[in-house]
Amino acid sequence: MEKQFNAGERIPAKGYAVHSKDGKFQSFNFTRHPMGENDIVIDILYAGICHSDIHSARSEWHEGIYPMVPGHEIAGRVIAVGNKVSKFKVGDYAGVGCMVNSCGECEACKRSQEQFCERGQCVFTYNNLDCFHNNEPTYGGYSNNIVLSEKFAIKVPENAQIEKVAPLLCAGITTYSPLKFSNIKEGSVVGVAGFGGLGSMAVKYAIKMGAKVSVFARNENKKEEALKMGAKNLYVALENVEEKFDLIISTIPTQYDIKPYLKLLKYGGEFAIVGLPPVDVTPEVSATELVYNAGKKVYGSLIGGIKETQEMLDFSIKHQIYPEIELIKADEIDKAYENLTTGKAKFRYVIDMKK
Ligand code: NDP
Ligand code: ZN
Repeated sequence: MEKQFNAGERIPAKGYAVHSKDGKFQSFNFTRHPMGENDIVIDILYAGICHSDIHSARSEWHEGIYPMVPGHEIAGRVIAVGNKVSKFKVGDYAGVGCMVNSCGECEACKRSQEQFCERGQCVFTYNNLDCFHNNEPTYGGYSNNIVLSEKFAIKVPENAQIEKVAPLLCAGITTYSPLKFSNIKEGSVVGVAGFGGLGSMAVKYAIKMGAKVSVFARNENKKEEALKMGAKNLYVALENVEEKFDLIISTIPTQYDIKPYLKLLKYGGEFAIVGLPPVDVTPEVSATELVYNAGKKVYGSLIGGIKETQEMLDFSIKHQIYPEIELIKADEIDKAYENLTTGKAKFRYVIDMKK
C-alpha cells in the first residue's frame, strides 16, 4: 500500500467540492502540497459529515473559500511518511480532525491548545489558508487523500471499528472536551441540548463518566434512541422540567433561546455552548440575564487540542464508544445535507470514500 512521492512533488487528489454557497457537490480534481519531512500522507477511507460542513459550505458563518472540499472527520491509512516522521509507519490507521498545523511555539500550542494558537497560525483542515504552504487553500476529507504534519494526525489502533472512527475526530472531541473541562463525574447531572451527531456523543461520554443524563430536543422522534443509549429523559418542553443540572451542553445549530436553559442550572451549574448557528441567528445572552442567573457560568468550547483528541480517541476505543452512523456514497452528500437541515437525519452520515 506504500506510495512513493518525490521530494517537492505536489500530491494529486480527487474529492467532492461545492463551487458556491448554493452549489451542489461535484467531483473535483486538485493537488495538495508536497509531503515534507515531518508529514504523512493518508489514504482516506471514511469521512464524517459534521453540521459545520454545512454551515461552511453555505457560507453561514462567513464567506467561504470556493471551490470548497469540506470534511474534518477523517479516518484512513497511512500510505507515505516523510523521513523525520516517528509517530506513524506506512499501513497504520490515522485520524484527522479540524486542524492540520499551528505554530507549535506559543503558549497555547505548548499547552496543546493548538486551536487557540496565539500567532493565529492554526490551520484548519478546509476552508482556510495554509500559512505554512504559501497561503494556499486547505481542502478537507471528502477526498481520497490528505497530507499533513504528523503532529496533527491522531493514532488509531488496529482494533478500532474504523468505519465509525471518523466522527470521533470532531463530534467526539468537541463533546468530550467540555465534559472534562466541567469535571463531570459519577453522580453529575448533565443535559444535552440538540441530539444529533455531537449531542449523541455527549450523551454517550457523559454516561460513561457516571453522569445522569437528559436530552433536550424539539420533538420526540429520537426518544427511543436516547433512552436506549442510557439517557433518563428526553424533554421537548423546557417549562415542565423539574431537574436541575450541573452542566448543559448545547449543540443546537439553529436559532434558539438560551434563557430557559440557564434557569435549569443548579447554583454553580455551567452552560457550555458548542453549537454554532449561522451568524444572523446566533443566540445572545444579555448582561442583565447573566446577573439574574448569578452563580452560574456560561462558556463556549471549540473542538479540543491534539493531546486531548488523542486522549478522547483512546478513551473511546477502550470503552467501545462509537457514534451511530449511516454509511453513504459520495453522490449522496447533497441529500445528506438536506436531511441534516430538515430534521430527517438521525445522527452521523459517514461517506465511504471507496464508493
Ligand atoms: P446535527 O445536525 O447532527 O445535530 C443537531 C441537532 O440539534 C439535531 O438533532 C437537531 O434536531 C437539533 N436541534 C436543532 N434545533 C434545535 C432546537 N431549537 N432545540 C433542540 N434541538 C435542536 O449537527 P452536529 O451535531 O454535527 O453539530 C451541531 C452544531 O455544533 C453545529 O452548529 C456545528 O457547527 C457545531 N460544531 C461546533 C464545534 C465546536 O468546536 N464548537 C465543532 C463541531 C460542530 P432536528 O433533527 O429536529 O433538526
Ligand atoms: Zn465538525
